[in-house]
Amino acid sequence: MEQNIYKPIQCEVIDVFEESPTIKTIRLKPLEPFSFLAGQFISFTVPGIGEAPFTPSSSPFEKNYMEVTVMKTGKVTAAIHQIKKADIVGIRGPYGKPYPMEKFADKNILLVGGGVGLAPLRALFYALIETLDNYKSIVFCLGARSPVDFIFKKEVFETWLSESWLSSYKKISFRITADKKDETWKYNEGVVTKILDNLPFVPENAVVCGPPVMMKFTTLKLLDVGYKPEEIYLSMERKMYCAIGQCRHCLLGDKFVCKDGPVFTYEEIKNQPKIWA
Ligand SMILES: Cc1cc2nc3c(=O)[nH]c(=O)nc-3n(C[C@H](O)[C@H](O)[C@H](O)COP(=O)(O)OP(=O)(O)OC[C@H]3O[C@@H](n4cnc5c(N)ncnc54)[C@H](O)[C@@H]3O)c2cc1C
Repeated sequence: MEQNIYKPIQCEVIDVFEESPTIKTIRLKPLEPFSFLAGQFISFTVPGIGEAPFTPSSSPFEKNYMEVTVMKTGKVTAAIHQIKKADIVGIRGPYGKPYPMEKFADKNILLVGGGVGLAPLRALFYALIETLDNYKSIVFCLGARSPVDFIFKKEVFETWLSESWLSSYKKISFRITADKKDETWKYNEGVVTKILDNLPFVPENAVVCGPPVMMKFTTLKLLDVGYKPEEIYLSMERKMYCAIGQCRHCLLGDKFVCKDGPVFTYEEIKNQPKIWA
């Protein structure tokens, strides 16, 4: 009998974390063996509603669960925000090309994320930590529109920025900003491109994920400070249905985001039309 490639595997929702007024992280326990590499995506099914693509935000090395961090924008994401512990949902995948970890070997790595774009970077960050001996150093730049919109707050502020964590991971440093601060905010104010000056290393590898306008200006800034187009890795998003190169909704010029990406170097896509649309 022919295998149904669209059939999702079932997952139990084991926790739900509210990240911001519009973003939630859903922790899932796949009921069949499932694994992914940082940067790949899954198609998430809410039974009776529909499906949508997301890049897992948890560590690819975590074998007990997988997390997706979802911003509410429309029908499926609104249904995902209604999900409760013990619900059963579906996933299929993983799809697409992951971040090329082998290219980062012996290099300094810059991660730049904004808003829900921090989701795939969190998975990548955990994967880099697992193999930290392979890299020279990591600077992780995290941004959000406002302190309230900043995601993974507990992890970033209470764990990663704690003295004990930083002293155990001396190769890693963080730069944090909010477009507009409030009285609680102790970090930078301004868009994420403002925290990209005076990097402590030569430009070698940069990984960027965020809303299109943020990716555009971050890419221009990185080119300006000396990164080459083939050293800038972008996670691209397009509306998609099948996730396997059939429906053609995700075409970016002549490239499929679902199977040629979602991770592309700027060099690969810079001449395609409307890449920041
Ligand atoms: C490879 C990939 C990975 C993604 N990872 C994440 C993630 O980790 N977290 C997350 O919150 N979102 C992620 N997205 C975006 C997410 O898939 C969309 O927000 C979701 O499909 C919207 O579905 P919906 O039914 O709620 O919205 P719809 O009702 O379909 O649309 C609502 C609005 O959002 C726009 N829209 C829908 N899908 C997309 C899209 N893919 N890109 C841009 N605009 C879109 C529509 O044009 C419309 O304006 C990813 C997308 C891709 C392609």
